[in-house]
Amino acid sequence: MRADLVIRGGRVFTAEPSHPFVDAVAVSGGRIAAVGADAVVMAGRGTNVIDLGGTLATPGFIDAHVHPASSGLDKLRCHFDDAVDAESALETIAAYGAANPSLPWIIGAGWPQSWFVKGCPSKELLDRVVPDRPALITNSDGHGAWANSRAFEVAGIDPDTPDPADGRIERLADGAPQGTLHEGAIRLVERHAPEDTVDDVLAGLVRGQEELLGYGITGWQDAIVDPKLQEAYVRLAGEGRLKGRVVGAMWWDRKGGMEQVDELVARREMAAPGFSPTSVKLMVDGVCENFTASMLDPYLGDDGEPTGNRGIDFIDPKELKAIVTALDERGFQCHFHAIGDRGVRNCLDAVEAARERNGPSDHRHHIAHIQVVHPDDLPRFAALDVVANAQPLWACNDDYQAELTQPFLGPTRSGWQYPFGSLLRNGARMGMGSDWGVSTANVMEEVDVAVTRTGESGQPLNPAEAMDPIDALTAFTSGSAFINHAEADSGSVTVGKLADLAVLDRDPLREGPLREARVVCTIVGGEIVYEGR
Ligand SMILES: [Zn+2]
Repeated sequence: MRADLVIRGGRVFTAEPSHPFVDAVAVSGGRIAAVGADAVVMAGRGTNVIDLGGTLATPGFIDAHVHPASSGLDKLRCHFDDAVDAESALETIAAYGAANPSLPWIIGAGWPQSWFVKGCPSKELLDRVVPDRPALITNSDGHGAWANSRAFEVAGIDPDTPDPADGRIERLADGAPQGTLHEGAIRLVERHAPEDTVDDVLAGLVRGQEELLGYGITGWQDAIVDPKLQEAYVRLAGEGRLKGRVVGAMWWDRKGGMEQVDELVARREMAAPGFSPTSVKLMVDGVCENFTASMLDPYLGDDGEPTGNRGIDFIDPKELKAIVTALDERGFQCHFHAIGDRGVRNCLDAVEAARERNGPSDHRHHIAHIQVVHPDDLPRFAALDVVANAQPLWACNDDYQAELTQPFLGPTRSGWQYPFGSLLRNGARMGMGSDWGVSTANVMEEVDVAVTRTGESGQPLNPAEAMDPIDALTAFTSGSAFINHAEADSGSVTVGKLADLAVLDRDPLREGPLREARVVCTIVGGEIVYEGR
């Protein structure tokens, strides 16, 4: 038999533990037809041959926690990929406004707080480049936004406007808005801006998919799917333009009640080839940096002494048990967001309650982020069949750690952060994801941190938790395929599986650093969907 495509001349990482590397792979009819020497002989007339020239090919990566539509939409709007400081940010906004004269609002995202005094840019600064219409531009972590005078006018915000319960308007001495909005106060302005249409979301999704394919990502779990995004996925798939293989995690509205379960059952039917909305996203706590991650023991104060604050359970733990038990019974997978050690424990307790009531299931509930995990809970992942869904890019000593996290956790709990090595040693299954747009979607940068535990500071974070590169690549391929119930068809280079592959520009396992490796070719079902240089 002759192959449609043969990849040879380097190494192919298979993600199969019994033979992690082969030297060639052959593709026929969109599936993997042979590996190793059997593959090489399948090249004939008409076969497309990719010569690796000593580089590495891998299974297509699978991102187990990502937000491609909103992050793609950010890239289509005013964004700051090419800006380096306040001045260039203003030039960027001015250019975007000039290029889009008919837009009623200037909407954008992605400025870092470090570009502005106290992280709070003024409305006058924005007025200089957008004097004529409202502008609202979110910062890079999404917890703050910058608005101009027109936006405050339209929203009716003046010195008499009270702060909302869940946010704060930055103010001048006379109480007038200064230009920056924090947390829930963003909504005061945002609700006056035109709402995203399904067409907007679809355009964002297309741009997001392009980004993911460029990093060799051929499948993912979308971590927040609302009805509009669901419609966008179904439309994209119907038009034959959805290239990735996607599981959607539908958002659980924590202000809504148990009647959501029936609604989600109905929404699950709105699927399409390549898009399965079979997971439900439950956000159980916040983040450490603003003390909203749910902790077993209190955060420390500036003096290093315990405060009374243990963070927030966004979903009451008793209620969480009932929700997870009901979802598990109706065949859903639960995709948890948990950052604090109590948040993680609440998720495990909820799955335990579901197991006691419903017996074992194959729904593959998974906890994303797993920043602080109490050592007692490490073996419970394997015992309860809960998959660890790691976002490894954060597992390094960056400014967030040194300034905003470790002083308030203290040394013991700081040492429990991102315990990927311990989870594996305790038998946990692990998948990986990026959380793009909070982080980059670049898989190899993430794998690098999983292995080195080191970011720009050069000081590793809890180096005993470092992973072997093979384990990290396995988590990002077959581990995440398991989370998505996709292992029969993807996640490894195995004869009979779909030909989803990524080709790198080097063999980073032989010539590091891992983070510098680039994807030069992405293949989905035997079709080349991305080619770079
Ligand atoms: Zn996320």
